Amino acid sequence: MKTSIKTSNPYNGNQLESYKLDSKSILNEKLKLADTTFKTWKEFEIEERVDLLQNLADELFKQKIELSELITEEMGKPILESTAEIEKCIYLIDFYIKNAEQFLQDDIIETEAHESFISYNPLGCILAIMPWNYPFWQVFRFAVPTLSAGNVALLKHASNVTGCAVAIEKLFLNAGFPKGCFQTLITDHKSVEKLMESETIKAVSLTGSEKAGRKIAELAGKNLKHSLLELGGNNACIILKDADLDQYIDTMVKARMQNSGQSCIAAKRFIVVESIYDEFIKKFTSKVEALKYGNPKDTDTTISCLAREDLADILEEQVKASIDLGAKVLFGNKREGAYYQPTILTHVTAKMPVFKEETFGPVAAIIKVKSEDEAYETAMNSKFGLGTMVFTSNYKAASKRILEIEDGAFFINEMVKSDPRLPFGGTKSSGFGRELSKEGMLAFVNRKTVYIN
Ligand code: NDP
Repeated sequence: MKTSIKTSNPYNGNQLESYKLDSKSILNEKLKLADTTFKTWKEFEIEERVDLLQNLADELFKQKIELSELITEEMGKPILESTAEIEKCIYLIDFYIKNAEQFLQDDIIETEAHESFISYNPLGCILAIMPWNYPFWQVFRFAVPTLSAGNVALLKHASNVTGCAVAIEKLFLNAGFPKGCFQTLITDHKSVEKLMESETIKAVSLTGSEKAGRKIAELAGKNLKHSLLELGGNNACIILKDADLDQYIDTMVKARMQNSGQSCIAAKRFIVVESIYDEFIKKFTSKVEALKYGNPKDTDTTISCLAREDLADILEEQVKASIDLGAKVLFGNKREGAYYQPTILTHVTAKMPVFKEETFGPVAAIIKVKSEDEAYETAMNSKFGLGTMVFTSNYKAASKRILEIEDGAFFINEMVKSDPRLPFGGTKSSGFGRELSKEGMLAFVNRKTVYIN
């Protein structure tokens, strides 16, 4: 039986730390503390909660260098991207400092009653199951609005970023949040099953794979608990004949290669109209060739290893099976340990794994199509529904496609990206529910109808 979690650096294989798994009694104590803290935390005025958010942002700012290094050590992200992740968390906090009060205000609804309105009340303790790809951002975008709304949180983070999980709990404590507002659990899948049965847990938020999503949704259903699922994606990047490649080629490369390709909203399938195909291939390939692989701690490294060696195994199998079905390697496809070289595959068809499945690494699947209609049709041929992006000089024509896009997001002349001001989430096998913006703030509240006659 596993009793500890060991973390290691995926770039050099060095062991980092060993963390003892929380015993049953520790887990129970954490649940109890969450329960008692909620009773007082929900009574805090929103202004008091917002004051603590400012401290949280200050803590992140103070520790930016150390925290960025921790991310890079645990999951291999190039250091400048780790720093950008911490900065984005600060930006998110600032957004909720400015907007939380307004988002939580009662909504007056005129009826024949003396007064009637919707009051937004916290639910209680929310369990967050989070992934390793953005180990701070994914947690903060859940926790900041959720705690501001008066809930408390328990975090079960991905085991390979346990150091980040421990650091995040400390940040909340240092910022002055009452003990028990935000607690990290050091635990495994089996205990999560038990936790989901606890009366204390009122809802669950998961960001992760489709497989994990199905399991957590099943547990939530069995225990009749609300769930928010942000799962995998297979975003299409459509390049129409009038796309401005000189202006947007860097964006297209970033859309696939950022975070070494490990992003749910990355552009995974490049669907290119034939009249611009050769020009796109030439420009895209030369930019991909220029990416610099190296130690993720070096500031000039732009592409790094994957977060775990088994993730490179999965990617290698997906690429190999696609090549067996006729895909051609235009660039890359070397693999060593957790490193997967940026790879461009052409002649990709809908029956290949790199088209049908989520590829979580730096592999761009290129599909040539004859027309704009075929491009959109091919883009929508996916069981996932996080987002679609299109590059074209005719944004008015692209806007006419909004209804046709089945995803949670449609970006024209920009890569799909998350922004605290805009809702974020998917459809189909990419999950359900929305994070960020006002929607994210109301994700875990009881919308209470109040009627005063
Ligand atoms: P997982 O979905 O397995 O992990 C994400 C989180 O869910 C982790 O905290 C993990 O814990 C937890 N988890 C998984 N299964 C269970 C369960 N049955 N009960 C409780 N917790 C669970 O992703 P992987 O790390 O295995 O990555 C595999 C693939 O998932 C990737 O290649 C990618 O395609 C996709 N993925 C998508 C992400 C996204 O942003 N949408 C993020 C990460 C992965 P633990 O670490 O202990 O296993």
